[in-house]
Amino acid sequence: MNNLLDYNLEELTNIVLSFNEQKFRAKQLYNAILNGKDVLSATNLPQAFLSKLTEKGFNMQSLKIHKIFKSHDKSVKFLYKLNDDNLIEGVLMQHSYGNTLCVSTQVGCKMNCAFCASGLNFVRNLTAGEILGQVVQVNSYLKGLVTDRKITNIVLMGSGEPLDNFDNVVKFLKLVTSDDGFNFSVRNITLSTCGIPSKIEKLADLGLSINLAISLHAPNNEIRKQIMPVAKSFSVESVIEAAKHYNTITNRMIYIEYALIDGVNSSLQNARELADLLCDLNCKVNLIGLNEVKERGLKKVTDSQTQQFLRELLKCGISATIRKSLGDDVNGACGQLRNKELSQQKAKSTTLQTAKKIENKAKFNKEIKNDRKNLKNKNNSKTNSNYKKAENKKSLKNNKTKNNYRGK
Ligand code: SF4
Repeated sequence: MNNLLDYNLEELTNIVLSFNEQKFRAKQLYNAILNGKDVLSATNLPQAFLSKLTEKGFNMQSLKIHKIFKSHDKSVKFLYKLNDDNLIEGVLMQHSYGNTLCVSTQVGCKMNCAFCASGLNFVRNLTAGEILGQVVQVNSYLKGLVTDRKITNIVLMGSGEPLDNFDNVVKFLKLVTSDDGFNFSVRNITLSTCGIPSKIEKLADLGLSINLAISLHAPNNEIRKQIMPVAKSFSVESVIEAAKHYNTITNRMIYIEYALIDGVNSSLQNARELADLLCDLNCKVNLIGLNEVKERGLKKVTDSQTQQFLRELLKCGISATIRKSLGDDVNGACGQLRNKELSQQKAKSTTLQTAKKIENKAKFNKEIKNDRKNLKNKNNSKTNSNYKKAENKKSLKNNKTKNNYRGK
């Protein structure tokens, strides 16, 4: 399937013209797909044209909302199903100042950070249209339109490392900020990366000027290597240098994400070391409560430890805040929901397989029983017939004897 959400208006116009349709149809088609319509419900477009599009393998939707989980804190977690049946997830955070949508950029993730469920497996990159499809579906869920959108902010912090899917992510950013489409301001978009220096610099040089968040989670290379395998390739110093470059080119303050993990990166000495590392960078540290992932075994710190860490950073002159964790009751951390769904699917398929095995075994036992019964019946009838033959032989012999006696 060729996903129409992957195209910008200019590319869509070329497609429309190639079907011998008039140019204005491209804008109608573009609005229909950004409003989350599927082929059948795009009523302002000629049905013959829509049929030709589907015949040629074009699809107007890149994914569908598969399941919705509502948290007591008003955040909503979405599990989406892609057209190839892969699952991804996202979360909508509803604040007084607007609605922020967290989108995924990959199915799973290659980076394998020790505190994250997404890193447990990687399947593939998402296309630009599949990332945009998450915005389309949730905007439509909120009863928004492309001309009256209900999502105000986007964060690329869901499953996947955005800079590991660079070209598709950049295309998505261009699509979502285009004034032909949703027209998001770059100020309202934040990309979060685990820190790939060359890609951070490349993103800066593209001039998109979105907000950049760096998942640092450690004040030095030794600790970072323990929890983030990417640190074996890139030192914290090189990540901070790339962040400074981004800051210089875009004039955007950098957000430093720091999940406090008990006994790993949460001591006051760690706070002082972090302050030293960041002293020359125009940044703000977001302290995050760890979303514990059962398979990972890492523990979060107490509220009082978080407060002490924060106070130490502030004392050292670093701007910092505690970011409220949302959606804990609905597997809010990235990758948790998808992994849960995959485990449930696996358990369901194992149960079905077991049930099938039991059914087959019962069928086999029944067949064996029937075979035995048939064999027994056959043997019985053979015995009976032998018995009858013997009886007949005996009575023949008796008759013969009788006749002989009569004859005497
Ligand atoms: S934290 Fe981000 S980069 Fe690390 S494994 Fe999870 S999704 Fe990937």
